[in-house]
Amino acid sequence: MARRPNIVFVLTDDHAAHSIGCYGSVVNETPRIDEIAENGWRFDNCFVTNSLCTPSRASILTGAYSHVNGVYSLFTPIDASQTTFLSLLRDAGYRTAMIGKWHMGHGDGHDPQGVDHWDVLPGQGDYWNPMFINAEGRRRIDGYATDIITDLSIDWVESLEGDDPWCVLVWHKAPHRSWEPKPEHQALYEEPRPVPSTFWDDYSTRSASVRRAAMRVADHMTVDDLKEDPPAGLTYEETALWKYQRYMRDYLACVHSVDENVGRLTDWLRERGDYDDTMMIYSSDQGFFLGDHGWFDKRFMFEESLRMPFVLSYPQRVSAGESFDGIVSNVDMAQTILDAAGVEPSDRMQGRSFWPDLVGEQDDDPVEGVYYRYWENDDFIHKAPAHYGYRTSRHKLVYYYNDGYFLPFTGFFRYPPEWELYDLEADPDEVHNVYDDPAYAEIREELKASMWREQSRLGDAPHPSQPVPAGCKDVAVATLPDLPRYAWIDMGGMLG
Ligand code: CA
Repeated sequence: MARRPNIVFVLTDDHAAHSIGCYGSVVNETPRIDEIAENGWRFDNCFVTNSLCTPSRASILTGAYSHVNGVYSLFTPIDASQTTFLSLLRDAGYRTAMIGKWHMGHGDGHDPQGVDHWDVLPGQGDYWNPMFINAEGRRRIDGYATDIITDLSIDWVESLEGDDPWCVLVWHKAPHRSWEPKPEHQALYEEPRPVPSTFWDDYSTRSASVRRAAMRVADHMTVDDLKEDPPAGLTYEETALWKYQRYMRDYLACVHSVDENVGRLTDWLRERGDYDDTMMIYSSDQGFFLGDHGWFDKRFMFEESLRMPFVLSYPQRVSAGESFDGIVSNVDMAQTILDAAGVEPSDRMQGRSFWPDLVGEQDDDPVEGVYYRYWENDDFIHKAPAHYGYRTSRHKLVYYYNDGYFLPFTGFFRYPPEWELYDLEADPDEVHNVYDDPAYAEIREELKASMWREQSRLGDAPHPSQPVPAGCKDVAVATLPDLPRYAWIDMGGMLG
């Protein structure tokens, strides 16, 4: 029997696939992340099931959707006693560690559990001289977060004795907002970057729900984001482009440090002689808009936000230089890792292991589509409304149910629900909403039924405002527990 792999799982925060070389980036190069794909597999259709930091992390760990693990939003900290792939690996004899950005709450049962060693940033954490929390308490470490998280991860593995396999989660804060690079990297991205073709998107044909979002580079980036005021005397368009270039300069410089630190891990594994025996994963908790549709941030189901980079190498078992265009999601990752380690998943996990794909043993039918749900509705900063949707290899259906909220002195307020439909083959940039186009009436109704069934299968419930699709009268509809209404309270730095 092959030795069980060591596992290095690098997860970054808000790193869009289209700023990674092997995913075709036109704005930067990432040779050390690309090296993982060159020595392993690149997944071209890996999707997040709720495009937000805290929920995605919880889904990755628990292998379950937000409505099952209870982490819906930035304001619903995790019950860390839940079974995770880490706790199952530990039970199976792995030495396990969680290092870096946790961002699923602290105290009251929210700190990491079911893991041998943890050392994490409080809340969002800082880029420079960050605090860390572990079982012993808090301490500040001098330096740059991306370097420190790598150092702590290497130090922990180096401290281990014996031959049992180990798994370390190297979970970075970078390149999350406030985009604070090392000074020597900032200078690398001073030259203007290409501007996305959808930067001047006017949102015509799109829903009012999308037009209301306050995530535009031109209008909603703050002086804190930009670190200085735009030059005086520029037109609106010139100012927008200046902001975009400033944003890219800092974001890509943060990515540069991530790439260097991925390289440090690779070099260290090679020096130890562990590289061939180690499953090395690079991913990010979701995608990010890099000026696409004029936006920064995430939350929506548009491709740049929905798509997660996911590359994996494990030379002893997995072939090199492959790409995979089947649909996988963050909910699948836990079962895939467990499968590679020969450990049984928990019954509560809802994904599908893609380990058999990696070793050429998959005989299932390809996955038809992925279900998505963004629960947060009263984020008055980004103004992205609650919605759910379904993405197949060719189409994307989105229902903005706009869950409503209480306004002071006004009472309950709710925008009307709206739909969008995209044909990704005819319209890869997603600028033509064809929901009302008669040519798409048939596929539209098919997708509604598919989504309704998938929601039922996963134990999620449709919003009461959605009519039952044709042919779905007999499909069981789940009853969800009362969900928390999300209020703007800062839960120990959970905001962001
Ligand atoms: Ca994130």
